Amino acid sequence: MSNTKLSPGIVSSRLSKEEYSNNFSDAYPGFTDYEAKVEADRCYFCYDAPCISACPTEINIPLFIRQISTEMEEEAAKTIFDQNILGGMCARVCPTETLCEEACVREAAEGKPVKIGRLQRYATDSIMSQNIHPYIRNENNGKKIAVIGSGPAGLACSHRLSMLGYDVEIFESKSKAGGLNEYGIATYKSVDNFAAKEVDWLLKIGGIKINHNKTLGVDFSIDELRKSYDAIFIGCGLQDTNKISIDSNTDQSIEDAVDFIADLRQINDFSSLPIGRNVVVIGGGMTAIDAAVQSQLLGAEKVTIIYRRNLENMSASKKEQNNATSKGVKIITNAIPTSINKQNGVHKLSLSYTEVEKQSGKLKELDQKFSIEADQIFCAIGQKFNNLLDVFKSNKGKIMIDESCKTSVENVWAGGDCVDQGEDLTVTAVAQGRDAAEAIHKSIISK
Ligand SMILES: Cc1cc2nc3c(=O)[nH]c(=O)nc-3n(C[C@H](O)[C@H](O)[C@H](O)COP(=O)(O)OP(=O)(O)OC[C@H]3O[C@@H](n4cnc5c(N)ncnc54)[C@H](O)[C@@H]3O)c2cc1C
Ligand code: SF4
Repeated sequence: MSNTKLSPGIVSSRLSKEEYSNNFSDAYPGFTDYEAKVEADRCYFCYDAPCISACPTEINIPLFIRQISTEMEEEAAKTIFDQNILGGMCARVCPTETLCEEACVREAAEGKPVKIGRLQRYATDSIMSQNIHPYIRNENNGKKIAVIGSGPAGLACSHRLSMLGYDVEIFESKSKAGGLNEYGIATYKSVDNFAAKEVDWLLKIGGIKINHNKTLGVDFSIDELRKSYDAIFIGCGLQDTNKISIDSNTDQSIEDAVDFIADLRQINDFSSLPIGRNVVVIGGGMTAIDAAVQSQLLGAEKVTIIYRRNLENMSASKKEQNNATSKGVKIITNAIPTSINKQNGVHKLSLSYTEVEKQSGKLKELDQKFSIEADQIFCAIGQKFNNLLDVFKSNKGKIMIDESCKTSVENVWAGGDCVDQGEDLTVTAVAQGRDAAEAIHKSIISK
């Protein structure tokens, strides 16, 4: 076993090959035929089903579940893809516990919703694994659309436009397509290179060309694109992260959790990624949970999440929190870091407890202090948009769109994390990409 020492406590090859392989295997494997049938039979096929409106892409959930129960898996998959072409990834990553499954009547009645996410995975896997792509393009209409970014928003928009007969060119900064599906989603939610396979499958529609390593604002401008394309869709996500401001005797004490996760997603050999024995993650969202859980799975012995408010305020769902604590991650709430001192490679993180002021609702730092030690500290306090704000009207620091995903600039639509109506969820990005494509089509045919 080779140990690449970065600083004391942060080492690679903490675990055996078998341990890495077990730790990063599929967290929620697909149903067998029998399990899917039994689960599908639990659905009441509700009239006016609340699960449909709780899904941002409004998949006809009772219909696809009925199709599964009558062994029409291909039709079930088509019901899903008609609304959400990334239904395969969404089946793996959607926080269903706060969306469709929270709304399921069986959740209200007995605390056990129909496992809609896993049934969705069963249906979509059934045709993706056979490489069946159930759509063909309309006849080419001679119009060209530029799409910025190949994340869920850009891909959903491109696929729908291609179906409608447009030629689509995607411009993507990175060398791989998929956005955060490829570089962000936790490894154990999307195993076996699923993100890349899903992109290949989606591109089978034809008519979509991806130009890699091409960045809007660096290699070309919106104005240049507007001269050559009939419309533009921006789905460039959030490329910057919030940084914590803290007294520190070193400027390299805190690592970015999103970068750590992106590195983890791209390595082939988990043993090559060094991790601290004692890891602290600052934040309360999905990124904080994913960084903490994956640190633990890489072999960290002690992983602690520090969150400034209480558990109910964390944007990570209860299920995500439970997943972290069940893996041994400790969550300290109502605490904020105030300073870091690094000595002999070990950080001493000083913290203050906090409370919410009853009248103002503001967070108040208390005079009660404590400290913890860490070999490695990750910051996961949110991503932000720092692009294109001189070009578009903005709201909440993001591109402002109307109900048809149109921006303030003529012939430019946008969706996903980069817009003011984004929700930092894969499924919302897909819904907005799809809806923007329909709006672009409507606008072009009305001219
Ligand atoms: C660590 C992490 C874990 C997450 N886990 C989950 C989860 O489990 N479930 C869930 O629902 N959501 C999760 N999310 C949120 C989800 O990944 C995003 O909401 C979703 O990916 C947004 O899609 P998007 O297409 O808007 O942006 P992105 O996925 O960010 O894609 C944007 C694409 O645009 C490209 N790009 C950016 N700027 C330019 C430019 N100027 N020119 C050309 N190309 C550009 C980028 O390279 C990227 O490929 C997670 C996010 C993170 C950070
Ligand atoms: S709410 Fe639950 S039981 Fe009703 S249709 Fe949806 S999944 Fe089935």
